[in-house]
Amino acid sequence: MSDCKHHQVIIIGAGAAGLMCALTAGYRGRDVLLLDNAKQLGRKILISGGGRCNFTNLQTQPSAYLCANPHFVKSALARYTQWDFIDMVERHGIAYHEKTLGQLFCDESAKDIVQMLTTECDWAGVKTQLRTEILAISKEDSGFLLHTSEGDYRCDSLVIASGGLSMPKLGATPFGFKVAQQFGLPVLPTSAGLVPFTLQPEDKAKFECLAGISLPVTVTAACGQVFSEALLFTHRGLSGPAVLQISSFWRPGETVSFDLLPGINFVDWYKTINAESPKLSIKNALSRLLPKRFVERLVEIGELPDKTLNQLGKGEIEALASYFASWQIAPGGTEGYRTAEVTLGGVDTDALSSKTMEAKACPGLYFIGEVVDVTGWLGGYNFQWAWSSGHAAGEAV
Ligand SMILES: Cc1cc2nc3c(=O)[nH]c(=O)nc-3n(C[C@H](O)[C@H](O)[C@H](O)COP(=O)(O)OP(=O)(O)OC[C@H]3O[C@@H](n4cnc5c(N)ncnc54)[C@H](O)[C@@H]3O)c2cc1C
Repeated sequence: MSDCKHHQVIIIGAGAAGLMCALTAGYRGRDVLLLDNAKQLGRKILISGGGRCNFTNLQTQPSAYLCANPHFVKSALARYTQWDFIDMVERHGIAYHEKTLGQLFCDESAKDIVQMLTTECDWAGVKTQLRTEILAISKEDSGFLLHTSEGDYRCDSLVIASGGLSMPKLGATPFGFKVAQQFGLPVLPTSAGLVPFTLQPEDKAKFECLAGISLPVTVTAACGQVFSEALLFTHRGLSGPAVLQISSFWRPGETVSFDLLPGINFVDWYKTINAESPKLSIKNALSRLLPKRFVERLVEIGELPDKTLNQLGKGEIEALASYFASWQIAPGGTEGYRTAEVTLGGVDTDALSSKTMEAKACPGLYFIGEVVDVTGWLGGYNFQWAWSSGHAAGEAV
């Protein structure tokens, strides 16, 4: 073992959380080695936000995160906030804008964020080594021994920042969960989050012809969680921000309810328009509020009567009011990890310190980012968790 190199800190995974942890520890004067099996670092950052990286959210707060222990995220989020990350972005002269709902995106490219983090890692003296497979990890009396495709390494602190299972094409692996299990940490069941729904065959036949159509909705999950964003019909089912958001709260077999006319009282609207144009068809009247093709399809499949406004009886008006206020869909499933933005579940936070991300039962071992059972809403919250948890561990290793 004479050629076994020693570093104070080894971080496995050069994604969002690993890069933030590395630069934070590096600035503290720690000798940091950042390892990744990929050819390129920060790949998910590069493709995120449609190539513009939604790097944080102005409204970041603990309630925007799903976690078996909702208090777990508080400490890390409070100690490295969205404002801290924005400050770094501004120091690097990266232009950004708020798109909607507090979501901050780069004006130019997600490459700017990767470049910023790489530059900070260089300034902090971090060594980075890509294309390195971790073959085995063992605990020693003090620290850890890593067997890798590029040789053996020892470290005092080992940080697992290898992400979740979403997008295996981009190199997602269950590595972090396996390491947790090896060291006796519980891993909560995982599933795809922020993911499009597929439809049951009957609904698919009804709606697949609407692919590409989008409309603003308010969506409610069986657990009561609500989001007001856009719904998008796809060839496979339903997507758009409203669906991605609610997918993290949906469980197989449950029904999801969409208010297709949010903010509109259907009965009042009907009374007004019927008074103005009683001979107008309900189809043409509704096409003023909803995409025309969607309304036409509802008539074709018999869910909307092919009548004029003044032909509608009281019962029909009430039935339509409740149809549009709570359009019920029981998804067939989700598109799974192939297209999911995040992984729900992961390393149980009960086994970690919320201050440092260190495993309570295995001093020196840390878990950060998506590998942990913390999942943010859509809108920059997941990167903020990566920055905050990475920073928390970087201050402690
Ligand atoms: C298409 C898409 C778009 C997204 N857009 C946004 C967005 O705009 N805003 C937002 O907040 N979130 C977004 N997300 C979610 C966000 O990318 C993740 O939450 C975030 O990247 C998690 O950071 P991480 O560092 O924990 O994991 P990752 O960024 O996934 O990094 C993990 C790293 O570990 C490496 N690794 C994995 N296995 C091994 C192994 N066995 N050995 C060595 N290295 C390994 C990987 O190569 C990777 O570099 C998006 C996700 C996807 C898939």
